[in-house]
Order: sequence, then structure tokens, then C-alpha cells
Amino acid sequence: MKAMKKEPSEKPLLSKSTAPLLEEVHRRLAPVWPDAHPLLHYHNCFELLIAVILSAQTTDEQVNAVTGELFTRFPTAKKLAEADIAEVERIIHPVGFFHVKARHIIDTAKALEAKFGGDIPPTLEAMLELPGVGRKTANLVASACHEVPGIIVDTHVLRVLVRLGVCPKKDAALAESIVRANLSQEKHTQFSYSVNRHGKFTCTARNPACTPLGRGSLGHGCPLDDLCPKIGVKR
Ligand code: SF4
Repeated sequence: MKAMKKEPSEKPLLSKSTAPLLEEVHRRLAPVWPDAHPLLHYHNCFELLIAVILSAQTTDEQVNAVTGELFTRFPTAKKLAEADIAEVERIIHPVGFFHVKARHIIDTAKALEAKFGGDIPPTLEAMLELPGVGRKTANLVASACHEVPGIIVDTHVLRVLVRLGVCPKKDAALAESIVRANLSQEKHTQFSYSVNRHGKFTCTARNPACTPLGRGSLGHGCPLDDLCPKIGVKR
């Protein structure tokens, strides 16, 4: 049975307190982390889509360690669609869940060939129909390849939004809906990347640098200290 892909909430989520908080978070983090691009290595949109599918439940660094060989061996959707799954599994083994991920990327390549001439789909909705593609992947690829605003809620972004009290629980679809309702569209992509970097390097899972002074893994302190209720952070 096909897995359900959770849709963002349809409830009205515009909030008098959340909108100015998100604007302020964006205003403070965007200059610290201005690079609004994936940390995954890729040369075209096909490679980006495959790399993002592989990045579920692992790090960008792990994915980058395998995609060089993968894309040399299978440089197009057509080549990957015709791949021997055992060879794909061998190459992507280090990223974890390699049986299901190998099946997903081969099936995705087949769908790209059959429906889109080997290109990535033109819309977010069409991308969501591909195997292994959820809202994070679709938003990321659509924003990077079609230059449409994308709210990319990965594990880092979700953790930061929960700690800030923006999202009441670890629910990526809810977080996406709240950001969509409370932050102007042209800021969505930059917001996603700067909050991602903030979560990856400063507001880390185990040891968040909750101080304006430098203590994060890249020497950044937290510029949100005075705004943040630090929900769930052990002190
Ligand atoms: S104050 Fe701490 S919990 Fe809040 S955003 Fe900064 S690092 Fe994260």
C-alpha cells in the first residue's frame, strides 16, 4: 500500500505573535547564514533529487560520500532506471536503509523517464507523486530547480521551530503550515536555509549554544537567545 504523504494543515494558523517572531528570526539569521543552497553535492536537478531522497535519516556528508560513484555510474534518469538494484545497493550502502532507498531512486528514475522525459517534474504536486519524495524533498528541489519559494522543514529546522515555540510539536507538516501562514512568501527559501544552518551548527540536538557568545560548532553563538523560550532544552 502506498504510504500517505502528510499534507500541511488547512487550519488557519496566522498568529499575532508568531508572525513578528518569524520575521525577527529571519531578520537575525539571514545575514549570519546567507548561503541559501543545499549542502549536498550535485551538478543538475536529477542529481539533486536523487541526493535528497538518499539524505533521509542520514547526513549530507554521508550522501556526498556515495553520490560521486553513483552519478558517475548512472549519470541520467535513463541509466538509473535500467540499473541493477544490487549494484545500486552496494554503492549507497553507507547511507543506511539502502534496500528501500535503492528501490525508491530506481523507481523514481523510471517515473522520470516514463512521465517527464528524464527531467524532474515541473510542479511540487507532481514531484510528490514520485517514490520516496515527501514534502521536504519536493520543496527543496522545486525551490532550487524552479526558483519557487520553498519551506524546507528538515530535522534541524523542525527542532529550532519547536524550541522557539513556533511549532507546538515535532510535526513537519504543521511547521510548514505555520511558516506559510506567518512569513511572507519571498522569504521562505532563505528562511529555510538559514534556520537549517542555525540548527545544524548552533542550535544542535544535544548541545545547543544558547548564548550570544560564540560556542556553536562553527564558532557562532545564538543570536536568538533573548527571543527563545528554549522549549525542551535541558539546562
Ligand atoms: S537560544 Fe538555544 S534553543 Fe533557542 S534557538 Fe538559540 S540555541 Fe536554540
